[in-house]
Amino acid sequence: MQRFQEVIDFIKQQFPGQDFIPLHAPRFAGNEKKYLMDTIDSTFVSSVGAYVNRFEEMMTEITGAKYSVAIVNGTNALHMAMLVCGVQAGDEVLSQALTFIATANAISYIGAQPVFIDVDRDTLGMSPEALQRFLDSNAEKRADGFTYNRTTGKKISACIPMHTFGLPLRIEEIAEICAIWNIVLIEDAAESLGSYIGDRHTGTYGKIGTFSFNGNKTVTCGGGGALVTDDEALARKAKHLTTQAKMPHRWAFVHDEVGYNYRMPNLNAALACAQLEQLPGFLENKRELAALYKDFFATQKITFVAGREATKANYWLNTIILDSPEERDAFLEQSNDNGVMTRPVWELMNRLPMFQHCQHDSLEHSIWLADRIVNIPSSVRS
Ligand SMILES: *Cc1c(COP(=O)(O)O)cnc(C)c1O
Repeated sequence: MQRFQEVIDFIKQQFPGQDFIPLHAPRFAGNEKKYLMDTIDSTFVSSVGAYVNRFEEMMTEITGAKYSVAIVNGTNALHMAMLVCGVQAGDEVLSQALTFIATANAISYIGAQPVFIDVDRDTLGMSPEALQRFLDSNAEKRADGFTYNRTTGKKISACIPMHTFGLPLRIEEIAEICAIWNIVLIEDAAESLGSYIGDRHTGTYGKIGTFSFNGNKTVTCGGGGALVTDDEALARKAKHLTTQAKMPHRWAFVHDEVGYNYRMPNLNAALACAQLEQLPGFLENKRELAALYKDFFATQKITFVAGREATKANYWLNTIILDSPEERDAFLEQSNDNGVMTRPVWELMNRLPMFQHCQHDSLEHSIWLADRIVNIPSSVRS
């Protein structure tokens, strides 16, 4: 019963004065109220307004990408990214079994089918070796220059790796492989705002990177998303499609294709701008907590997932790896019984009814990790 008491006590010490310690609570300590009041005073609460534009500018400054498009949420940002990159119904998209449901759902919105590739144990993100192995044994490049799945005959048009819990995956190697096979690379960077490989922000290695500003993410605007890209034509197309494909005109309602109502409202963008102003402080705060956890778990002989060398994770959700599914469950039970919110990782995508029929590789590391991962409290501390 006292098995994990020391761990639970340590976590509690990092969040003094709290009876219940959530996994990740938002923190509103900046200009949130002021900017929100601005939008109400100006009446511009909807999809046109100064904060939406400012938000897009801030995202290009933070990520170093040339263009950014604000979107209603991260799931729809992924959908939009695939639409503008030309992923079509009937195509296949390589992704991870170890990811949040949104990645696989967005692929389904296109009418495409996910194929699940294994992850690395140290990054929890797509493994370049596994990707290479899958393509070598299952794919062929045809005369049209595109890659096809030899088993299903379908075109493999995109690859969407995900920077799990903000830990940068081996995206440079993934990008090289995708370039050789002519597969469009889209990064699901929903969890990795503020995570860098050297000086380069995650989400800027593919054609498009997508972000989420949901309530539990490092930075939140209630609900929101964004895509970033260096490709002006793609950015313009995304802006057009997210605003009902309306042709610019002073009064006429003319739309030149089927569009989407995917633009982020100014109300949410106001909150996002206020939050993004605080991002550097949030990151410093979160990295400090991660360092404390890392040192502590070393004394407990429990693996703390610190991430790759020469990368700077945002440590959105801090992650530990228990010895077995039984240990994991014992820790989940004891911590949650004691007011410390902890969670296992998502059920693997290939085990869910709607994705059970999808092709996947051995998923050796994904299965191993799914049995052992636990996320521990990771909020920005005051
Ligand atoms: C949060 C998240 C998304 C998008 O989430 P929204 O709630 O739609 O903003 C997408 N992928 C991953 C991996 C996520 O964690």
